[in-house]
Amino acid sequence: MTKFRTLDDIGDVAGKRVLVREDLNVPMQDGRVTDDTRLRATLPTVTELADRGAIVLLLAHFGRPKAPSPEYSLALLTAPYEAVLGRPVSYVDWEVADENVAMLRPGDVAILENTRFFGGEEKNDPAVVERFARLGDLYVNDAFSAAHRAHASTEGLAHRLPAFAGRAMEAELKALEKALGAPERPVAAVVGGAKVSTKLEVLRHLVAKVDHLIIGGGMANTFLAARGVDVGKSLCEHDLTGIALEILDAAEAARCTVHLPYDVVVAKEFAPDPPSLRTCNVHEVARDEMILDVGPAAVEALADVLKTCRTLVWNGPLGAFETPPFDRATVQLARTAAALTEAGQLVSVAGGGDTVAALNHAGVADGFTFVSTAGGAFLEWMEGKELPGVKALES
Ligand code: ADP
Ligand code: MG
Repeated sequence: MTKFRTLDDIGDVAGKRVLVREDLNVPMQDGRVTDDTRLRATLPTVTELADRGAIVLLLAHFGRPKAPSPEYSLALLTAPYEAVLGRPVSYVDWEVADENVAMLRPGDVAILENTRFFGGEEKNDPAVVERFARLGDLYVNDAFSAAHRAHASTEGLAHRLPAFAGRAMEAELKALEKALGAPERPVAAVVGGAKVSTKLEVLRHLVAKVDHLIIGGGMANTFLAARGVDVGKSLCEHDLTGIALEILDAAEAARCTVHLPYDVVVAKEFAPDPPSLRTCNVHEVARDEMILDVGPAAVEALADVLKTCRTLVWNGPLGAFETPPFDRATVQLARTAAALTEAGQLVSVAGGGDTVAALNHAGVADGFTFVSTAGGAFLEWMEGKELPGVKALES
């Protein structure tokens, strides 16, 4: 794998100003953080650097401000972050950043104002890179979730200051490398979710990489339709059946076994526990029915596939899991994956917004080897793309 420098290579940081790019873009409601997962993810890097005597300067964006405005100020996050970190945190406004930073002591932690208050942040403007760089001696990127963007704080700075991966970034890169870089074989991939169109590149990349491709969710309907199955009024992208066939051909050429459901859970209306609920063979779906989950026989067969594998990468739920009972296939297969992982038989890596929600719903997020909360960056990585923020850290 490509090598990148970490906090193990950063040397003596005592008294040095370290600009640490973190993802502090947390959901807030009425001034309260409703999910502090991202804040907690920063702790290993921030506490380590502070304990080693660095002056820790956090760089982060918050929301999508068009211009500086109080509702997007990172001042709002100072108190919540202080509570999570368990030590004092100061807030530094851009107007007085040079003076404020000069007053900080070794071991201090400060949050710099929203990086996106500079229009040039997202354009990777050299002037903005310079504006950030003059505040620090070293740069640490700990925000994998922002690494698919070549912005001043995520990419530009890595070329301007000595650059290192933070602990969360390091853990994420190592887990992803284990799953798709140099995985133990056989490798299975589960790809689900609503639509083929959002995951075409993921599917194209995976067929060349994995031994088993398990397709579920709404997108499986497009593949079934491509094979001549009448999917009734299921969610289906009929205009993409040609591309679905191309993917199936590419899989065959690459000796990747594609698994499509052969039994499914259907209903006439999309509602919790609908009266029309039934399970049937994929060839028996009626005109007025929708496929909303993978069926129990198929899930059992998929569990058997996982039992033969050493590595699993998972993106996208197998069914409309938010509405019961269409969560069953996802929950059951996720539990199998977690049990195999806990038994030391499987390395399991999952990611994607709804996938993380589905694994939490199944109560098995902790049972996976690694669960990425990175969203867009995780998907681009599944597409085999090089992430500019990661590339810039390579040594
Ligand atoms: P992720 O965010 O993990 O990448 P997606 O956004 O691609 O996942 O897909 C998640 C959505 O797909 C969920 O809202 C789920 O309800 C929907 N979905 C899964 N299976 C079906 C199905 N058979 N019919 C309609 N929607 C489905
Ligand atoms: Mg989603």
